[in-house]
Amino acid sequence: MRDGPLRRAVKAVARWNTLANLAAHRALRRLRGERPYRLGGACQGCARCCEAPSIQVGRLTWYMPTLRRLFLGWQRVVNGFELVTRERPRVFVFRCTHFDPETRRCDSYDARPAMCRDYPRLLLWQATPELFEGCGFRAVHPDAARLRAALEARGLPEDKLAAARRRMFLDE
Ligand code: SF4
Ligand code: SF4
Repeated sequence: MRDGPLRRAVKAVARWNTLANLAAHRALRRLRGERPYRLGGACQGCARCCEAPSIQVGRLTWYMPTLRRLFLGWQRVVNGFELVTRERPRVFVFRCTHFDPETRRCDSYDARPAMCRDYPRLLLWQATPELFEGCGFRAVHPDAARLRAALEARGLPEDKLAAARRRMFLDE
């Protein structure tokens, strides 16, 4: 169901808070010398990321019933995410009530939560990011140009070179 003005206002505050936290956390990790993958490509609007939105939570939220109920209640009432299942490690999988699987459209796209706007940036901090199949974005290794040149210098056959580039996240 499309969001009304009150839910939009609550979501805007929550979104600002989450995006500010994410930016601060990532800045700190960069200061510590971590180098995430770069984001290549662009969104193609396939809506794969809307089919089963998933959120990994901390241990407290996962194991403490009161916190877990608060978290799931917030997701249901504010974001329109209904719990479908739980997976390890500490991941809740939802059905988004804003997603129309027929048209593959979001009925409140302009009010979508921070996690929808951020996808797939969080994955860029993982060792081997796995984006949804068919997603128009891709992870690009921070040293892609140098590694590509080193691979090309080895004179591999074209198919092996292409496979190695994919495996090593070297395609821009
Ligand atoms: S899966 Fe990727 S390409 Fe598809 S809508 Fe989500 S971000 Fe865009
Ligand atoms: S709120 Fe919109 S963008 Fe986010 S998962 Fe639901 S349908 Fe997709």
